[in-house]
Amino acid sequence: MSKVSEMGWKFDNSYESLPELFFSKIEPNPVETPKLIVLNESVAEELGLSADALRGADGIRILAGNKVPEGGSGIAQAYAGHQFGNFTMLGDGRALLVGEQITPEGSHFDIQLKGSGRTPYSRGGDGRATLGPMLREYIISEAMHGLGIPTTRSLAVVTTGEEVLREGLLAGAVMTRVASSHLRFGTFQFAAQWGDMEKLHALANYAMKRHYPELEAGDYLGFFRKVMERQAELIAKWQLVGFIHGVMNTDNMTISGETIDYGPCAFMDVYDPATVFSSIDAQGRYSYENQPRIGGWNLARFAEALLPLFDEDQKRAIELAQEELYKFSDLYKEFWLSGMRAKLGLFGEESGDEALVQGLLDVMKESKADFTNTFRELTLGELDLELRPAFLEWHSVWQERLGRQSASAESVRELMQKSNPAVIARNHRVEAALLAAVEHGNYGVMENLVRVLRDPYAYSDEQEDYCVAPGASVTAGYRTYCGT
Ligand code: AMP
Ligand code: MG
Repeated sequence: MSKVSEMGWKFDNSYESLPELFFSKIEPNPVETPKLIVLNESVAEELGLSADALRGADGIRILAGNKVPEGGSGIAQAYAGHQFGNFTMLGDGRALLVGEQITPEGSHFDIQLKGSGRTPYSRGGDGRATLGPMLREYIISEAMHGLGIPTTRSLAVVTTGEEVLREGLLAGAVMTRVASSHLRFGTFQFAAQWGDMEKLHALANYAMKRHYPELEAGDYLGFFRKVMERQAELIAKWQLVGFIHGVMNTDNMTISGETIDYGPCAFMDVYDPATVFSSIDAQGRYSYENQPRIGGWNLARFAEALLPLFDEDQKRAIELAQEELYKFSDLYKEFWLSGMRAKLGLFGEESGDEALVQGLLDVMKESKADFTNTFRELTLGELDLELRPAFLEWHSVWQERLGRQSASAESVRELMQKSNPAVIARNHRVEAALLAAVEHGNYGVMENLVRVLRDPYAYSDEQEDYCVAPGASVTAGYRTYCGT
């Protein structure tokens, strides 16, 4: 563990205490002329870093991967995963883990440079990233954080001064990703596939100590349960705001329960449970409505990797895993339903609540209602029933349900406001911000958008403009891309 550097870096390099199978040491891969595009000051502050120093030449060299900060080191992590159902060897093909920053509060966060060059896991890739997708990750991860959804963060985006070949020559960029760790389900799948018992134990013990220190040593079933709970809660939170991750491969599911990998994700405008944005998800495997089920499928793959830790006897281990896995759908449902109750201003629980929620979703689907704005209008009492008679019947059932609880109108409104974001990172807004930034070097549009997204429950005047849903012609055919 190092002392604090002038810039504020204070690293633990604990990942290197794991068996060498799990990572590769890599040398920095210098880029030509790094230039700072965004610095996330609030993340810098949380990490205990000096924003001024990061803006200086030395700081930018670090954020571009030209120089490893004092006390840091450079490794790429090995992992594997099921990509669209197929098991593959993967790894940080274009990311360099610099170390774990110890914050002034004593928390540990991985500092990882994404797009910093080839690694032993690059396969055919060039190890680089381009400006648009890195800014997109910055915008959407900030939006997720604002929504109160666990997520990796973005500390900075720099351009490299080099061009990267994609659909044409594009500006190269490096993003600094901050995560409570980059341990994935796929890290365990890698250990189970290519490691021995000792290595699997080492990885599980490490992950438990890092994320679930409250667990007793050796309580691997307890570890699985904790991860399952976090995933159930996370996916419920996605559903509650209409977030579609888009690439729920097992290597994109974290042990910490943070959302990771912002390649093809997007928020849904018009409510349609079958919505898919990802260009490669032809079968709709990762559609909005499939996310909870895929969460369960991924957890089953995670449990398989952990089996030898549950019991020496494989049959017994499978039974134990199944007992846990059976709980997932109820667990998810509980998080989802309690979130939906809050969105509708319901305090207590009634047996008809789930049907009430489903009734609303059915009307929304039928009438192609905007997901976010429907809940926003209900919150504000502005859902115009004359204009939208389809909602009439449901609305009166909802009003009756509200009438049976003792909560005041004011506290109902308060609960609804903090449960229904007025703004989300709408695709047309994100695209407009990226166009201005990437094509015209104008970052103001993005800055304004991010400012609004950081406080989505404010219901402020400034937000009104950002609440406008795009026309159907804009929404239809919106496509997103992986690993760009
Ligand atoms: P992603 O879609 O970003 O989750 O990437 C899937 C896998 O491909 C991961 O193992 C990445 O490290 C790797 N990868 C993605 N893009 C690149 C690239 N440009 N160069 C090298 N590896 C990459
Ligand atoms: Mg990924």
